[in-house]
This record gives sequence, structure tokens and C-alpha cells, in this order.
Amino acid sequence: MNVLAKCPQCDAGLPVEASRAPEAISCGNCGRAISMTWSPAVRADEIVDKCPVCAGGDFYVRKDFNPKIGLTIVIIGASISAVFYWFKRDFIAYSILAAATLIDLLIYGRLKEVTVCYRCHSEFRGAYKRTAAAFDLHTADVLEVEYERRIGRR
Ligand SMILES: [Zn+2]
Ligand SMILES: [Zn+2]
Repeated sequence: MNVLAKCPQCDAGLPVEASRAPEAISCGNCGRAISMTWSPAVRADEIVDKCPVCAGGDFYVRKDFNPKIGLTIVIIGASISAVFYWFKRDFIAYSILAAATLIDLLIYGRLKEVTVCYRCHSEFRGAYKRTAAAFDLHTADVLEVEYERRIGRR
């Protein structure tokens, strides 16, 4: 699986391939050395049971959505639609808007889920089995504070 490790110091996302990742990496942005503990399940792309960055075992899943792409489709749809609206082709204008919204929904529905670590926000992408639940704000509040205390940010 592919892991986007989040640097504890500067939050930069560092992509590493779990199957052949080293025990330590250094952040390309701030140079901080980050030691990583890989569980066999993560190495083998089976499940995400332990975060290699913070050693935490609490994760949530969310849709792997890139908001920029969704917004681009809507903006393109709206600009084409505006042209037809200008020429009093209201029905066509609205149809194009509706189509753009529909395309967005279709893309969203087909997105894969990405697992995210509650503590350090590292992301896990791969063919592994999704076992985590959806995002829970209370859990996030508790675990983020715990993690930030541990790494000395609070
Ligand atoms: Zn860094
Ligand atoms: Zn983590």
C-alpha cells in the first residue's frame, strides 16, 4: 500500500511504499528524521492496524476526494451554461448545470476510500481491506490532543 506519512514537525506529506519502506525517513521539507514502525499487515497491504508514523491504532475512512477536481467540473459546467443562458436557451443552460452536478456525484460515488490516522493524519491507499469506521469528531479531538502533547506541539 502507499502511505502518505505526515511529518510531525511541519505536516508535509511524504509518500512511501509500505512494502519496501525503510525504518526511518527524513522529511524532504524540514529535514526532521521520522522513525517508522511497520506492522506486517501494513507491509503486506492486508489491513491498516498500526500507524507507522505515530504507532497509533485508531483510524477512520473517508472518500478519497480531490475537491479541486469537483470544483473545476462545476465551474466549467457553469461557464458553458452561462453562454446558453445569455442566448436565452434556458432549458439547455439548466441541463448543462444539472449534467455537471451529476458528473460530480458520479465521480464521488466511484471514489475509493482512504484510511486516515486520527493522530498524525497519515493516509493509507491500497488494495487492503477497509476496517475503520467513518470519521468521529469526538475521537479526533481526544486523539489529536494526545498526539500533539506527545510530540510537544501543545
Ligand atoms: Zn517536516
Ligand atoms: Zn499516525
